[in-house]
Formats: sequence, C-alpha cells, structure tokens
Amino acid sequence: MDLSAGPKSTALMARAERVMPGGVSSPVRAFRAVGGTPLVLRSGSGAEFEDVDGKRYIDFVCSWGPLILGHAHPDVIRAIVDTAAHGTSFGAPCEQEIELAEYLTSSYPGLEQARFVSSGTEATMSAIRVARGATGRDKIVKFSGCYHGHADHLLVAAGSGLVTFGRPSSAGVPEAFVRETIVLPLDDEQRLIDLLRRDGDKIAAVIIEPVPANNGLLLQRPEFLATLRTETERAGTLLIFDEVISGFRLARGGAAEIFGITPDLATFGKVIGGGMPVGAFGGRRDLMKNLAPLGGVYQAGTLSGNAVAMAAGLAQLRTLEREKGWTRLEETGRQLEALLKPVLAAAPYGAQLVRIGSLFWISLQDGPAPRSAEAIDSTAADRYRPIFHALLDGGIALAPSAFEAGFLSLAHTTAHLERLRDSLAAAFEAART
Ligand SMILES: *Cc1c(COP(=O)(O)O)cnc(C)c1O
Repeated sequence: MDLSAGPKSTALMARAERVMPGGVSSPVRAFRAVGGTPLVLRSGSGAEFEDVDGKRYIDFVCSWGPLILGHAHPDVIRAIVDTAAHGTSFGAPCEQEIELAEYLTSSYPGLEQARFVSSGTEATMSAIRVARGATGRDKIVKFSGCYHGHADHLLVAAGSGLVTFGRPSSAGVPEAFVRETIVLPLDDEQRLIDLLRRDGDKIAAVIIEPVPANNGLLLQRPEFLATLRTETERAGTLLIFDEVISGFRLARGGAAEIFGITPDLATFGKVIGGGMPVGAFGGRRDLMKNLAPLGGVYQAGTLSGNAVAMAAGLAQLRTLEREKGWTRLEETGRQLEALLKPVLAAAPYGAQLVRIGSLFWISLQDGPAPRSAEAIDSTAADRYRPIFHALLDGGIALAPSAFEAGFLSLAHTTAHLERLRDSLAAAFEAART
C-alpha cells in the first residue's frame, strides 16, 4: 500500500511514537483504521492545510468539526491575538464568557442558562450529572453508535474511534460504572416506548446525538425523534441533545431548530470554540439551578470560560451569522451532493453520499443509507482504505476512518469540491481494475 506521508512526517511520527502512545493525542489520528503513517501538519489556511513536508491538501476534516469558517480565519485569529494580549485566563468572570452565554441562550431552543467547560466530553458528563441531580434517578439511556465523549459511563456501544477498534466499549471501565447505562438501538420507537413505560421512573435522562455523526452519519427519521420527546416527557425523564457536532453547524439553533424539538438539556463543543478547547451545557433554568453554587450538583473547571477561548468562539459565531453561513453551507452541501452523485453511482460497489447541511458521509455499502449502528456494514472499512490513500496522495484529506463524517466549511469552493469529485472518480476507477 502506498504510504502517503513524506520523509519529515515519517521521521516526526517515529519520534512521537517513542514518547506518546501511538504517537498521538487522540486515537483516530493514528491511521490505524486505514494503515500508513499520519501526516504531521504545520499550517492551515481556509479549506487547505500543509504538512511538514510542504505538501498541500484540501481538508474535509476541519479538525473534526470546529473549523466551520476554515483554518485561520482572520476574524477568529484577530479575536484570539487581541484578547490574549490582555491576559489569557483569570479564574474569575470575564465579559467574553457572558457574551458567549448570551449568544448561546438567545440562539438555541429552550436554552435558558449555560455553563462553559473545556471539551465536549466534560459537557455531556456534566449534563448527565445535572439530570441525575435534578431527577433523583440514577439510570441513563444512550443509543448504540452515538458517541458522547470518553466519560466512563458513556463508553458503552459508542461510535467514533471505537468503531474501528471493533470494541463495544473500553478497557479500564469497570462493569459497575456502566451498570446504570442502558443502551438502545437507534431508529426503533417500540424498544424506546417499552423501556420508558416500564422503567421510566428510574431513568434520569435519555441522551442522543439528534444527528448521529460519529458512526457514519445515521440520519434519524423525524418521527423517531418526536417519539423520543413525547415518551421522555411522559416518563418524567429528561431529554439531552448532544449537539457537540450539530450545534451551530446545521443551524443557529442546531438540530433542535431543524427538527422543531426542544430538549431539556443540550451539550455543545466544536463550532462554539472557534478552534479553541470549549464545551458548554445548558437548558432550562429550573434544571441548571441544581448546579453549584446554587445547588448541590458539583461541577467546576480552572480554565472554563477563559477569555481567549470565549473570544474565539464569539468571533466565529458572529462571522458565521454575518456571512449567512448556515444558508451558504447548505448550498455548498447541495453542490457536493450534485457533483458526487454520478461518481458514486458509478462506483464498483454500493456507494452513496449521506448528507445534512455541511456534514457528509461517503457510505460504501449496498442498500439504503443505514439509520442505526446495527445496519452499518463493517466491511466498508476494506473498501474505504485504498480510496482514502488514493485521495490523500492526490492532496485531498478525508477522515482516516470509513465511519467518520466529513465536514464542509465556508472556505470550501466549487473548485475544491470538483477536485474531490475528480479524485474520487479516479480512485473508484483504480479500485475496479
Ligand atoms: C466530539 C464529540 C464529543 C466529545 O467532545 P470532545 O471535545 O472531543 O471531548 C461529544 N459528543 C459528540 C456528539 C461529539 O461529536
């Protein structure tokens, strides 16, 4: 197999592997699912990045979602530099966090109050703690294939890097820690209704990615999400939308706005941080008042709400809004769909583009697009590997896993999309022979 990394990337990764497990700070970056050596990156601008060997690539990963304006957008960089010049973090309230909280609460359905953390993982972990504290119930429900970060009790049938490891869960998580986590399949109203009507009074919350985007892109039927809302309400169980990917990417009000469903609590990350480490969770005031210092649910963070990260997030969101970002991203997504459709139809195996807004997934399996983790054909990984490397050789970076979504930014142009189309067509042609 052609290994795409140049000599400098290869040498740096050899150094990295001596001092960092797998040479990486997060597992999917290690290319285990596709083989070969990861590129070591040194700069990014707009829709492109450059590796340490000086080769340029069109980036369809966008740091796994945060970079919705592309790399190094001048508005975001200016906000970071100007803010940092006056101090990075104070461990005390700052104006930037109040402004970002006002932006979030005035944007997202039902979000009356929010609290900042430094990652999506912390956001989901903390939202669940609030749900348990508020309801006095212990059990939670998650859906198989949905990823909610790497907190112990959420690493059950999770997606993301865990899919390609072929493991349902993680070593180092005691059985007892996940005993209060119930896993249901997506796209199955009856299982949900049966569980909530029988055991609802023991279940604090149901957490879901309303647009599951960490295990392929498993677009849900609106009726399934609507049932989830009515049944949780009926059971007095809280509904948590994990919008760490979808929030402020699909619309100003995230998937909640698109589906017209208001969750009790929601979690955010990625886009709201403008490329800095930021997460947030929030919801109704009567739930959020359970948090310390007002209530007994403890949650804290040394760098939470720091001025630089808040300023980066605010700058990104304001630019997105000013540039009619959500409308333009939908247009770019539609264009991608139109360009790739004939190419995917001519692939030597079942292939289709699954897309919502600026989130997409090239699914390499037969039949209708899967709507649950159980409907995913794991052998697609074998078909994806040569395609991934052919594209990378040609200067196009897709995610290094068959089951990770792709991301579009405002910096992606027609020319970028056409290059993806042409390279994909050539890669399928090569796969045929
Ligand atoms: C990325 C992601 C997380 C975890 O966020 P981190 O910042 O990586 O901790 C949680 N939930 C969803 C839906 C995500 O996509």
